[in-house]
Amino acid sequence: MAKIKGKDREKEQMGMSECPKEDKKKWMKNEEAVLQIEDLGIDGEGIGHLDGYTVFVKGALPDESVKIRFMKVKKNYAYARLIQVLKPSSDRVIPFCESASPCGGCTLQHLTYERQLAVKEKRVKDCLVRIGKVEPETVEWLPILGMQDNPWHYRNKAQFPVRQGKDGTPVTGFFAGRSHHLIETSDCAIQHPDINKVMRCVMTFFRKYRISAYEEEKGIGLVRHIYIRRAYHTGEIQVCLVLNGRELPHSKELIEQLTELEDVTSLYINVNTQKTNVILGEEMKLLFGKSYIEDKIGSVRYHISPQSFYQVNPLQTERLYKTALDFAELQEKETVWDLYCGIGTISLFLAQSVSKGRVVGVEIIPEAIENAKENAQINHIENVDFYCGAAEEVVNTLLNEREEKTAEKADVVVVDPPRKGCDEKLLDTIAHMAPKRIVYVSCNPATLARDVAVLAEKGYQVEKVQPCDMFPQSTGIETVVKLGRKNAENDYCISNK
Ligand code: SAH
Repeated sequence: MAKIKGKDREKEQMGMSECPKEDKKKWMKNEEAVLQIEDLGIDGEGIGHLDGYTVFVKGALPDESVKIRFMKVKKNYAYARLIQVLKPSSDRVIPFCESASPCGGCTLQHLTYERQLAVKEKRVKDCLVRIGKVEPETVEWLPILGMQDNPWHYRNKAQFPVRQGKDGTPVTGFFAGRSHHLIETSDCAIQHPDINKVMRCVMTFFRKYRISAYEEEKGIGLVRHIYIRRAYHTGEIQVCLVLNGRELPHSKELIEQLTELEDVTSLYINVNTQKTNVILGEEMKLLFGKSYIEDKIGSVRYHISPQSFYQVNPLQTERLYKTALDFAELQEKETVWDLYCGIGTISLFLAQSVSKGRVVGVEIIPEAIENAKENAQINHIENVDFYCGAAEEVVNTLLNEREEKTAEKADVVVVDPPRKGCDEKLLDTIAHMAPKRIVYVSCNPATLARDVAVLAEKGYQVEKVQPCDMFPQSTGIETVVKLGRKNAENDYCISNK
C-alpha cells in the first residue's frame, strides 16, 4: 500500500495545481522573482507557478503577489523565501504571536480563522475526491466544525524542548520549522495559560539550581524536554521532565515549587538517553503525586497517563466524538469494535449507546489499555472489553479464537489510526467482518483517502464527511467519515429479521 510521506507529500502538494511544462527558464539559487500565489500547500506554504516550476513559499497566501528569493531549485519545483508581500491578500492578518515567523508551530496564523477553516475543508474534499476516488455528488459533505469561541490557548498538552542558551543557561521554546534551532518563548499562544505558567516555574528551577540542558550533537547535558498535560475539566496538571539521565538533582525543591501552583498533581521523570528525535524514553518514574490526571468528555471520566494518547483540543474533542457517535447510528443490541482505541475515549463514549450490546477496543500501548480498563471501571461501564496489541494482528486472533464475548460479529467498526493510516491487512480483516457501518476518524486526509479507496474495492462507500478543526492556527485537520456497504438496503433487511 502506498505510503504517504516525504516525496509523496510534495507530489500531493503539486497535484493541487499541475505545473505547466513549456517555457521553462532555469532559475538558480538566490535569484529573485515576483510570484503570484495561487494555492496553499499542506504545510501552510503559498504555492505559485513560474516558468514551469511549482514554487513553495512559506508565509505567502493565495491571491498575493510576492517578491521571492529562490532557496532550493529542483527539476520541476522550487522552495523560495518570502522577501516582500507586494499585494497582500484580504485574508491576511497580523500574527497574534510574537514568535510567529521564526517558530515552526502555527503555520497558518497569518490567515483569518474563517479562511483557515475553508482551506482545511477544501483539503479534505480534494483528498477524498482525488486520492480516494469518491464521487462528490454521492456524499453528504458537512460544513467544517470550527472552534466556536477563541481559537487560541486551546491546547492541553505541550512538549517544550530544552536547550542551552547563548549564556550557557537552559532555554525553552519551540523548534523553527524543519530544524532543531530553538526559538525561545515563555508564553506559547496556543497553550492553555496554566501550561505556560508551569513551564516558567520549571525553567526558573533549572536556572536557580544550574540544571544542565541537553546538547544534541554531543549527547551531554540533562534536560531534554518539559512535557506538560492539563485536564480541561478538573484543571489537574501532570509534569514530566524528559532526562538524558536517571536522576533529577534537587527534585525535592522542584516538588515544593510545583505544589505551590495548586493544580500540579504529579511530577514524573522520563529517562531517554538515546540519540533520537523520539521524545519519550521507555522508563517513567513518578516522583510525586498520582500516576494519572483525570478529565471528562461528555459525562465520561477518563484517567490519562503520560504515555497514552489523548486529543489536544478538549472542546473540539467532544464535538469530534459526538460526530463519531452520530455516524455510528448505534442500536442498543449492536456490537462495535473500536480499533486504535487509546485510553478507551471513543469506546466508552459509544458503550452507553449499546446498553444491550458490546464494545471491543484494541490498542497497541499497554499503559493506554491499562487506562482504558480503569476508565471502564470508574464509569461503571461493563459492556466493553479491551485488548492490547497491534490491531492488524489482534483483531484476526480474536476472530479466530471465536470467543463467545467477542464473536466475529461486528455491526459497526470504528477506526482512529495515527497519521500513517490503517494497515492494509486490517482493512482486509474489517471487510471480512462485514460490518454494516464503518466510522473512520482520521488526523490525515491523505491516508484517510488512500484507505477509503481500498475499502471501496471491498464494497464500502463514503456516505458522510465531517471535518473538525482540532488544530487552529496550524494545518492539521481531523475528519470523521461514515462508510456504508454498497448494497446496504439488502443488508438492512437481513439484519432486521
Ligand atoms: N481513539 C483514541 C486514540 C487515537 S490515536 C482517541 O481518540 O483518544 C491513535 C492510537 O492508535 C494511539 O493510541 C496509538 O497508540 C494507537 N496505535 C498505533 N498503532 C497501532 C496499531 N498498529 N494497533 C493498535 N493501536 C495502534
